[in-house]
Amino acid sequence: MSFSDFNLDARLMRAIAEAGYTTPTPIQAAAIPVALSGKDIVGTAQTGTGKTAAFVLPILQRLLQAHANAPHHARFHRALIITPTRELAEQIHEAIKALARHTRIRSAAIYGGVSASPQEKALREGVEILVATPGRLLDHIDAGLAKLDRIAVLVLDEADRMFDMGFLPQVRRVLSHVPRQRQTMLFSATFPREVEELANRSLREPQRIAIGVSAPAVTVTHALYPVPHHLKLDLLVALLRKADAFSMLVFTRTKHRAEKVSRALARQGFAATRLHGDRSQNQRQRALQGFKDGKYQVMVATDIAARGLDIESVSHVINFDIPDTVDAYIHRIGRTGRAERAGDAFTLVTPEDNGMVRDIERALQQPIERRRLEGFDYGSAAAPEQPQGQAKSQPADKRLPRTRPSNGRLNDRRSGSAHRPDDTPRRRSVR
Ligand code: AMP
Repeated sequence: MSFSDFNLDARLMRAIAEAGYTTPTPIQAAAIPVALSGKDIVGTAQTGTGKTAAFVLPILQRLLQAHANAPHHARFHRALIITPTRELAEQIHEAIKALARHTRIRSAAIYGGVSASPQEKALREGVEILVATPGRLLDHIDAGLAKLDRIAVLVLDEADRMFDMGFLPQVRRVLSHVPRQRQTMLFSATFPREVEELANRSLREPQRIAIGVSAPAVTVTHALYPVPHHLKLDLLVALLRKADAFSMLVFTRTKHRAEKVSRALARQGFAATRLHGDRSQNQRQRALQGFKDGKYQVMVATDIAARGLDIESVSHVINFDIPDTVDAYIHRIGRTGRAERAGDAFTLVTPEDNGMVRDIERALQQPIERRRLEGFDYGSAAAPEQPQGQAKSQPADKRLPRTRPSNGRLNDRRSGSAHRPDDTPRRRSVR
């Protein structure tokens, strides 16, 4: 299949070529013809699969066709894309700008945390495509600035993330301002019940398109690195040194831990930055841009801050802390192995993480390889509760206990130990 099979406008074809896309990705091959036919779509695809272009190209095509028959001084918002985070809104907006560069179609990113006036200007001018987070959009709707009564295409992107972040009530409110007669596309990596309900309520006879159902891009190599708690930071440093890649994304569970780990890495000589919700929009943008430009080799991030980011060629995702949910795992490693490039996803695990590991293996429908980092001194460790040597040869079910710790927290058995390296984040104290 090639892009010319979609019969897209020549101006879009030019932009596609200039973006360097030669062949449609699987989600594009599956979704673009359906979207062009005007049908509703429920797409199972995570970021990194090329899904942005899969909905942006049909939107642009449709708007170009409508434009051909409309006087161009009459500008209205015609398409609305709702996303969970500002970073993602910004990213989609950039993708639209690139693909629409030879057209007069304009887009605006609408999100909170920054001055509202440029956004208000865009709204007054009636840009054709709005890419918005639900909260700020509602503010503009309430203020009478955003008028959604001409919206013909609606996209709900990363619906599961919006649900996780508690945005569904706001999304429903936005929906009540959009005409019923419209095309709707909903994308989600996973489908919790609430997202299914949202899909049932807001889409009409949607075509379901599943690419890599709830599973990460196949090019990602997963590995678990069992490690006692107090050696986590040392192991991270050793792994990063060994990988020596140009762009490595490290995830921690909390903002505070992101801050601590990033500082510790900087002390170890890494060009490290951090992305989390306690940083200003400006700081986050600088961190992200610096990471993209190669100024920073390592970026330490929390789930929410890194959600849906399109960072090209992240070679390694390292989970310093295992995520709290399987979905979060899938989203995190969606940052690597993007659009068919290979990537590595390493997760540091302590014995307390075994329940979560089992859940992840179940979702992936395969055991994840356990590795020991050669040359790393595990010697000062407290006796591991799970003999590492045995782990590899046994099937996942035998290898792992059946239950998670009831309090869901990781216990640091050596809390207060004199062996703890100074930089090791103390779990209790940093939570
Ligand atoms: P997305 O899943 O939309 O975040 O896209 C992930 C990355 O793949 C982005 O950097 C896109 O620019 C890139 N991409 C999208 N479509 C294609 C394609 N057909 N060929 C190559 N790269 C693509």
